[in-house]
Amino acid sequence: MPVLDPQLPPPAVPAVEPTPGRRASRAFPVCANPRCSSGWLQLWRRRRVPVVEGGWLCSPACTRAHVEGLLRREQSEVYPVSTHHHRVPIGLVLLTQGWITHEHLKEALEAQRSGANMRLGEWLVANRGLSEARLTQALGLQWSCPVFSLERHGGGLPATIVPRVLAETFGFVPLRLTATGILYLAFEDRIDHSLTLAVERMTGLRVESGLLSTSEFRRAQQDFTQGRFARSRMIEAGSIELLAEAFARHIEKRQPVQARVVRLHDLFWLRLWHQDGEPSTTSAQNPGPEDIIGSVAGFA
Ligand SMILES: [Zn+2]
Repeated sequence: MPVLDPQLPPPAVPAVEPTPGRRASRAFPVCANPRCSSGWLQLWRRRRVPVVEGGWLCSPACTRAHVEGLLRREQSEVYPVSTHHHRVPIGLVLLTQGWITHEHLKEALEAQRSGANMRLGEWLVANRGLSEARLTQALGLQWSCPVFSLERHGGGLPATIVPRVLAETFGFVPLRLTATGILYLAFEDRIDHSLTLAVERMTGLRVESGLLSTSEFRRAQQDFTQGRFARSRMIEAGSIELLAEAFARHIEKRQPVQARVVRLHDLFWLRLWHQDGEPSTTSAQNPGPEDIIGSVAGFA
């Protein structure tokens, strides 16, 4: 069961470099939009928010331009791709470890060829007495990643850490946040490194990814979906420009003290924080971050 922990404060972000020639002062903060054309007079307005990735924005037009720049940055970002072809086949890992026999492997491959609707490891668990724990261990060797257990890595998780829709879409479960700021993310049969990186960038936490056995993964998923979630909504847009417009409109409406955008594969995750500093212990005082998940037609 996820623990209803206090909310996390927004992660620290480096302050935006002021545009050369425009110096910040106490009276005149510098807009984070490098092409800001607001005159000094407009900056007299009593506006201290919104702040997006550490940069203050002086007007809705600047928010719109800044957000579009962030989306384009994310769009062109090349994330590490998890490649399958360098990995030792799972059957070979199991065989090398002596956890299955040559005969078992032959039978499993034969079953796959004749259209068994199961992955090789699954078939061996279902039909040849391979234990689920051994299979997960073998997957851990195949992916060179840790194998988690609910007993050691579960519990103690703010349910607002990642929106549920992302966990469900990409097949992972956040397990636990340690006192030292390590977030354990569990996958069922392969590690998604680009996703790990995206969660790390958004939360500012060190994320450690590992595998859980199928039955533990299902249990963890169930526990996670029973938790309380960050508010999230989905937006579909026809283009990056339109998504920037929708995100910026929301930022202007909600005036967050901090916001950030990261891409997870074909989705853009915008998170808004509404409160600075130390997290409050009661959820009524601190509703936690707010998430918007955006997709762009034709972008994959
Ligand atoms: Zn501006």
